[in-house]
Amino acid sequence: MNANQIAEVKKLLQEPKKIVIIPHRNPDGDAMGSTLALFHYLKQFQKEVIVISPNEFPGNLAFLPDSEKVLIFERNKETATLLLEDATLIFTLDFNALHRTGEMGLTLEKLKAPFIMIDHHEAPDSYATVTYSDTSFGSTCEMVYHLIEALGDLEKIDKTIATCLYTGITTDSGSFRFPKTTPRTHQIVAQLIEKGVENYTIHNELFDNNSYNSLQLLGRALQNMQVMPEFKTSYITLSQKELDQFHYVKGDTEGIVNYGLSIKGIIFTAIFIENKEENIIKISLRSQGDFDVNKLAREHFNGGGHKNAAGGKSYASLKETVEQFKSIVQATSELKS
Ligand code: 5GP
Ligand code: MN
Repeated sequence: MNANQIAEVKKLLQEPKKIVIIPHRNPDGDAMGSTLALFHYLKQFQKEVIVISPNEFPGNLAFLPDSEKVLIFERNKETATLLLEDATLIFTLDFNALHRTGEMGLTLEKLKAPFIMIDHHEAPDSYATVTYSDTSFGSTCEMVYHLIEALGDLEKIDKTIATCLYTGITTDSGSFRFPKTTPRTHQIVAQLIEKGVENYTIHNELFDNNSYNSLQLLGRALQNMQVMPEFKTSYITLSQKELDQFHYVKGDTEGIVNYGLSIKGIIFTAIFIENKEENIIKISLRSQGDFDVNKLAREHFNGGGHKNAAGGKSYASLKETVEQFKSIVQATSELKS
């Protein structure tokens, strides 16, 4: 964050404000952790502040302090729209294009209030007064830590804020194993534990909260996995029928995509999840090394993200989407052995 941006944020935060903080649709640990961390930080200044999420967050994030105060746009459209129209400052966290909030984006586009974007994805749109965008960070939570530091308020990070930040750093770094996990990441995490974070409890909340059904669904997903060894690629499909069979609830498919990369020699993997309600196939893409899945998601699957983790969607059937995927893989010279 440069000096101009810090000055601009300070200016925007000066007067009493009605502040709305927004994560992306289908918020993950980083989106929820960063928005709630910022919420608790701004609360300390008696600001009028609320988090509005485009839709529900997964159940394993309900332990985040004050998650129950998050207003869900999809369930409270009228109230949420009024609050948005009344807001004098909007923070958008962990995304960089308003359409990433789904239907809520249509309301956001019309607002006159200034926006502050804090995000670590590639290619930010230009809707914000302050665009704090840096793809070198592994998580938006790390960036919120730096924002608070830049504002000279590190002592205001209490156990509550630290818990939110630790959660996002953990989930977006794959528990401190993805390439963007740097000495800086571990230094921040050490500070957060100093602030009283119960790191073992958070890992337990995040990862030891499986239901029997979600593990059975994982089993099915792994059995569905296909490998294209000559292209160093694997992929998984889950049909709506299979999701129904194992009583899918939000969050159950989180992280399954990563198993595809854990096979020796595989550098590119995908999961295709049928969503009959939205009439789309939700796609998650992961890679190892230089193969750029953000580019592939943008070019072929109406999506985006980061070089090694991206997502998108397809409006074709599950079968057609997989066929399209296989043709793309076969035509990609970087994947040839
Ligand atoms: P996931 O596969 O875990 O849903 O997402 C991986 C990364 O890609 C995340 O950083 C997420 O924000 C981004 N991403 C996922 N789906 C989409 C999408 O439909 N559009 C864009 N632009 N980014 C996405
Ligand atoms: Mn993130």
